[in-house]
Amino acid sequence: MPVIIDQEKCEGISECPGEGLCIKLCEKGALEEKDNQIVFISEKCDDCDICIQNCPSQAIVKE
Ligand code: SF4
Ligand code: SF4
Repeated sequence: MPVIIDQEKCEGISECPGEGLCIKLCEKGALEEKDNQIVFISEKCDDCDICIQNCPSQAIVKE
């Protein structure tokens, strides 16, 4: 299932309480930052849900 980043709750690595924790934790490289937004690359994601469980802003959900 696609991972959705809530852009109202997440304002990029610079404003993240975990300093981009989702990107650091994603072992598949399915999350990147571009233009101050977190971008999800669905082809790389294995649905481990680690990003969802660890985002300090609860900004990551699944559709
Ligand atoms: S961990 Fe959450 S708040 Fe931090 S960059 Fe990732 S999505 Fe945004
Ligand atoms: S669910 Fe897992 S593989 Fe997919 S983006 Fe999140 S941490 Fe990465």
